[in-house]
Amino acid sequence: MKKTVLLWAALVLGVAYGQYTLPPLPYPPDALEPVLSAETVETHHGKHVQAYVDNLNRLVLGTLFAAQSVEYISRFADGAIYNNGAQIYNHTLYFDVLASENEAKHTPTGALAAAIDRDFGSWSDFKKEFVRSANSLFGSGWTWLSVDPGGKLVIGSYRNAGNPLKKGHFPLLGVDVWEHAYYIDYRNRKADYLDALWRIVDWKVIESRYENR
Ligand code: MN
Repeated sequence: MKKTVLLWAALVLGVAYGQYTLPPLPYPPDALEPVLSAETVETHHGKHVQAYVDNLNRLVLGTLFAAQSVEYISRFADGAIYNNGAQIYNHTLYFDVLASENEAKHTPTGALAAAIDRDFGSWSDFKKEFVRSANSLFGSGWTWLSVDPGGKLVIGSYRNAGNPLKKGHFPLLGVDVWEHAYYIDYRNRKADYLDALWRIVDWKVIESRYENR
């Protein structure tokens, strides 16, 4: 009985077209300069992410995924609904964990720092492993730091819209390694983008995700 009610609630709510909206940037588009230009951030957020939002609004109509969160879609959907829903989840996290170079907390402390030492050996070993993983991803995709179901921190790279939610992980940091994330500022120099990105990753946000997971 309860399941039936929930199913109908999902179907009725799902017909409200336009339920997904572009998550606002938590800072002005030029806040990440010089690491990421305003042009990169505006194009990435305003064009690419907006397109995923528009696509998902169209794709979920009349499906059981209508009215579901993008986290739910990342866990349970496949195909085009997965691709667009996961991309909204991924980009929301990506833009949330970045901050202006002056405001970002540049290294983790506390429980997260201890877990990084425990699972990767050291802070510098963690960064090396993360960059190695991102550089070795062939084609478009994402590199993640996540907490696995056993509580261990893991690094993984996934193709296209992939994220570790399907594996039951809790994502802490997602780095976009699609060319659209860096091509305006770095052209083909993906390694330079990855190198520079540490200057604007805000470990305050990631620590808070880790502590409240
Ligand atoms: Mn992107």
